[in-house]
Amino acid sequence: MKYTSTRDNSLSVSSATAISQGISKEGGLFVPESFPQFSLERISSMVSMPYVQRAKEILREYLTDFTEEELNYCVEGAYEASKFSSEKIAPTVNINKNENILELWHGPTCAFKDMALQLLPYLMTVSAKKAASGKEIVILVATSGDTGKAALEGFKNVENTRILVFYPVDGVSKMQKLQMATQEGENVAVCAIEGNFDDAQSAVKAIFTNDEIKSKLAQKNMMFSSANSINWGRLVPQIVYYFSAYCDLAEQGRISVGDEINVVVPTGNFGNILAAYYAKKMGLPIKKLICASNSNNVLTDFLTTGVYNKNRKFYTTTSPSMDILISSNLERLLYHISGNDDSLIGDLMNKLANDGKYAVNDTMLSAIKADFAAGFADEASVKNTIKKYKYLLDPHTAVAVKVYEDYVNNTGDDIPTVIDSTASPYKFPKSVYSALFDGKDFDGDEFETLEELSRVSETEVPAPIKALKNKPVRFKEVCRKDNMSEMVFKLLKL
Ligand SMILES: *Cc1c(COP(=O)(O)O)cnc(C)c1O
Repeated sequence: MKYTSTRDNSLSVSSATAISQGISKEGGLFVPESFPQFSLERISSMVSMPYVQRAKEILREYLTDFTEEELNYCVEGAYEASKFSSEKIAPTVNINKNENILELWHGPTCAFKDMALQLLPYLMTVSAKKAASGKEIVILVATSGDTGKAALEGFKNVENTRILVFYPVDGVSKMQKLQMATQEGENVAVCAIEGNFDDAQSAVKAIFTNDEIKSKLAQKNMMFSSANSINWGRLVPQIVYYFSAYCDLAEQGRISVGDEINVVVPTGNFGNILAAYYAKKMGLPIKKLICASNSNNVLTDFLTTGVYNKNRKFYTTTSPSMDILISSNLERLLYHISGNDDSLIGDLMNKLANDGKYAVNDTMLSAIKADFAAGFADEASVKNTIKKYKYLLDPHTAVAVKVYEDYVNNTGDDIPTVIDSTASPYKFPKSVYSALFDGKDFDGDEFETLEELSRVSETEVPAPIKALKNKPVRFKEVCRKDNMSEMVFKLLKL
């Protein structure tokens, strides 16, 4: 299996190169040159396997330059049972008729990012040995809240790596901020920026492709890489849980192998839903990929009209990890849908950078519509949805559930469906509590709200969130968005 770039498909590199580099040198994203096909027999054989085994089945097809020992080391280390609060790793729970929630938040930071970011450091260090001649890897992360913490937790004290995280100062929940500011580890640093997630992400991308900065790092035998979902090593682990959820539904007798399902994904940077698209391309019987947005509904508009326009009001919502107007991974979808047209993708991405918008032609739009449906949920309907269900929904998951309800009402298509639950509700205790009690805040601090939420919902506060209360704050730095490259050098002590 080789990987090429969305903006230069004369490139052909190994998975180790794609993962250790993170982003292609001309700014494109690495994509697999083909998609391994899984027959229904092969999928059937995975039904009785535990998660780790299912993961190996998928990863083996993509990481063909890894030895079997390397693969075992990576996957078994990442999904070690003690790090997850469910022995299923990512359990599928039925909440109503054909509505099944895929709980992706049982990892150490209680968000779905753990599913990939527990594995990425293993993939990265093995890849760096193979493809980057032992250089020290500097992971730069722009985060809308959850990636930062999950990446810090994944990379902390991992030999030959350092990790720097930038988050929008007013763009994350209190719990998310506290999770990052209290991060332990010798090789980690965290800095807030005055700006939103798109500002942070654009600045990080610019630093990655800045030759002067790169050569300064090279002199110290260091190189940048990315733990954002622009990195192939972030996407490939996410394909696994779509196969796993499908196998779970079969195991529970809710479907027979071969039946189609729908998948609903609360979407920001388009990474998670792209992984579902890849699963479909590999032969997993998925009918529609339903893209759920919050009030920042740039993707709803794009997937229904073919016009991407980020020139619009930016909303700060109760689902901060989806407060994104530039969805990086859409570039990969456009590449595949256009029949691997790298020069078109270069043009579209230039238009996006210069004008903030672009449009795709009708052929591409119909290809998109064949696979995708899209909708969005505003803040009022997110609150109503949280209140309506006995199952405790975090605001991101509630966006997905609401968009799914609308989809069923509009289409009548109510086949068995998997709805991704991307965060534990306890990461957003204030929002969830006030949604449950008609806008009333609980009279107490963040941690008292956790306890009350636990009492009224009869569910448990995850241990890593409970533990935050007594952890000292280590990182308080704030910088301007145009100062990020200087901050990188400062934090690296160069
Ligand atoms: C990151 C995140 C999302 C969005 O996922 P993408 O892969 O960026 O589309 C949704 N919900 C939560 C809780 C997240 O952390």
